[in-house]
Amino acid sequence: MKAVVYDKPFEVAVRQVKKPLIQHPDDIIVRVTTTCICGSDLHMYEGRTGAQPGMIFGHENLGIVDQVGSGITLLKKGDRVVMPFNVACGRCMNCEEGKSAFCTYVNPGQEGKSRTSCLEPASSFGSISPSNFSAYGYAAMGPYSGGQAEYLRVPFADFNALILPPGTEHEEDFVLLADIFPTGWQGVDLSGFRPGESIAIFGAGPVGLMSAYSAVLRGASEVYVVDRVYERLNKVKEIGCIPIDFSKADAVDQILKLRGGKEVDRGVDAVGYQATKGDGKTEQPNAVLKALIRVVRPTGGIGVPGVYVPSDPGAADSAAAKGYISFPFGKLFEKGLTLGAGQCNVKLYNRYLRDLIISGRAKPSFVVSHNLPLSEAPGAYEKFDKRVDGYTKVLLHP
Ligand code: NAD
Ligand code: ZN
Repeated sequence: MKAVVYDKPFEVAVRQVKKPLIQHPDDIIVRVTTTCICGSDLHMYEGRTGAQPGMIFGHENLGIVDQVGSGITLLKKGDRVVMPFNVACGRCMNCEEGKSAFCTYVNPGQEGKSRTSCLEPASSFGSISPSNFSAYGYAAMGPYSGGQAEYLRVPFADFNALILPPGTEHEEDFVLLADIFPTGWQGVDLSGFRPGESIAIFGAGPVGLMSAYSAVLRGASEVYVVDRVYERLNKVKEIGCIPIDFSKADAVDQILKLRGGKEVDRGVDAVGYQATKGDGKTEQPNAVLKALIRVVRPTGGIGVPGVYVPSDPGAADSAAAKGYISFPFGKLFEKGLTLGAGQCNVKLYNRYLRDLIISGRAKPSFVVSHNLPLSEAPGAYEKFDKRVDGYTKVLLHP
């Protein structure tokens, strides 16, 4: 089959690779119809992770069930399904509590062990460290191949595949259930947001736009979205939010000025450690957290879906290389702010967000800028990485 394969930093290629096989009774094989390029793929694409040449990318996948393992009870050949980017067992303590991004069983080194052992306490597998997250096609996140390919193996599929209505309707919306729609939604959740409140979102990439859209759906009074990319700020306007161009002036100053000096109730960091300055040059990785602590009112809250890494091998200073970042914790304490962060527990949200799409109350696909065949993936990676030509959310169709 054809797949998008990592070669070296800033280079992916479409190559012929082996089709995945059922490896366990709980597996299914999905024929991928739509898969996305994600901002998270850029951490690997730019060579900042341990991604090995030959690895197949792609953790946002939708398709048709092609084969089912003998242990599958809820799915059949021909079903249309979307998979959370997290691979999770569904039976460990964290999965039972809805924290499927922190599954204590499905992590590197555990794949292939007896499945009954996922019922054992987490301690049998050692403590959970960030490198224990599991996702399709992601370096240091387990042995699972990605779905930027014609076929994908889905483990624990009764738990990990969400059934969609048959046909092709809402394909562009449903594929966003794999990651960015739930991730944006959780970012707003983590901030402690309540209907009627105001919120400032840093980053108008796919995740920031989905946070802004979620805040709108959930009844925000005012939504400010900070970025410097023209096309992305236009999408902010499209959904009735207030664009803040931080290449013009300090973002927090602009928001406070618009509000007569009043801070916002909530904030979301949809940028992460890869922040830039207004001129596009590399910024300190603490820039967005510092800004949010300034712009959110006392007793408000901050949600952080943007990724921070336990180590950043490319960082110039040694603290950042260890993944340490400093931010004004004293100010956060003084203001009594809450701070929530982490990978998205997609399973907690995707069923409900799917139903919002089916009922016509949500149409997250406004974020999609490109629909391309898989063969055009290399050029699309390059343009999405440079954030040029309006590349905002790219869908690939194998
Ligand atoms: P992206 O790179 O397309 O978007 C980031 C945006 O932030 C860009 O538009 C950029 O111009 C803007 N930006 C950069 N510096 C800024 C600053 N100082 N102030 C304001 N905006 C700034 O990526 P994305 O796909 O939207 O993802 C965003 C982050 O979310 C990434 O770190 C990604 O890895 C992470 N992510 C997390 C999860 C999760 O489960 N928590 C899931 C998906 C993605
Ligand atoms: Zn993603």
